[in-house]
Amino acid sequence: AKPLAAPGASIVSIHGLRKSYGTNEVLKGIDLEVQRGEVIAIIGKSGSGKSTLLRCINGLEQFQDGALTVDGQPLVYDSPQAMRALRQRVGMIFQGFNLFPHLTVGRNVMLAPTLVKKTPTAQVTALAKKLLDRVGLGEKFDARPDQLSGGQQQRVAIARALAMEPAVLLCDEITSALDPELVGEVLRVVESLAAEGMTLLMVTHEMAFARKVADRVIFMHQGRVHETGSPQSLFADPRTPELRQFLSSLHD
Ligand code: ADP
Repeated sequence: AKPLAAPGASIVSIHGLRKSYGTNEVLKGIDLEVQRGEVIAIIGKSGSGKSTLLRCINGLEQFQDGALTVDGQPLVYDSPQAMRALRQRVGMIFQGFNLFPHLTVGRNVMLAPTLVKKTPTAQVTALAKKLLDRVGLGEKFDARPDQLSGGQQQRVAIARALAMEPAVLLCDEITSALDPELVGEVLRVVESLAAEGMTLLMVTHEMAFARKVADRVIFMHQGRVHETGSPQSLFADPRTPELRQFLSSLHD
């Protein structure tokens, strides 16, 4: 096992991160420290760079300038070993659940630890059962993804991400593709992870959820962290016109 970072140490540390697509600079110098166990909600208009930031953190996108460290591991694009180490420390869940349709629910959860960590089958089977129990789907081990509701599939995706024992879990609009009546079951799982001390970085439109669960909210605007603070202060007393406008647009 890896040595743990000292208490209070940053799990994610970002300095001066800049990312462009061609001439379109979508992240214009992001600085962010995420502490162990911290739950951060990232809010902002569509196109403000929220998703790109998450994808940079897990190495899905290459950024041009700045520095990123996850759980003490610096991101180094030309080192496959460093990239593998980084990816193992970062779990990510997307809007679409992206389960492998030809694998059972259990096999979906088992796949990464089997392939990447070479965890023995008996051990990884027990782990998958435990994680599926934890998201309330213990009885679905042998089901196929297409036999599950969207909310159930997203809970499987959460179990699958947890199977790699990530240091941080990135959630990108994970309830946006769900029917309204299925949102709650997914948010309850996320809330329980937060309560158990998981470090979470979530892009969300669920302001009530952010208010309830986040330790800190980050408002992104035009590729920058425009305003940040506790949910209480940020929602009750937005300081910038851009945040006020964003929050009022949600009530329209
Ligand atoms: P958000 O998550 O806040 O909606 P995104 O990070 O998805 O914002 O997008 C930020 C900007 O980057 C947008 O202008 C978007 O068009 C652009 N963008 C995102 N992904 C790509 C890509 N793969 N190629 C080119 N432009 C992209």
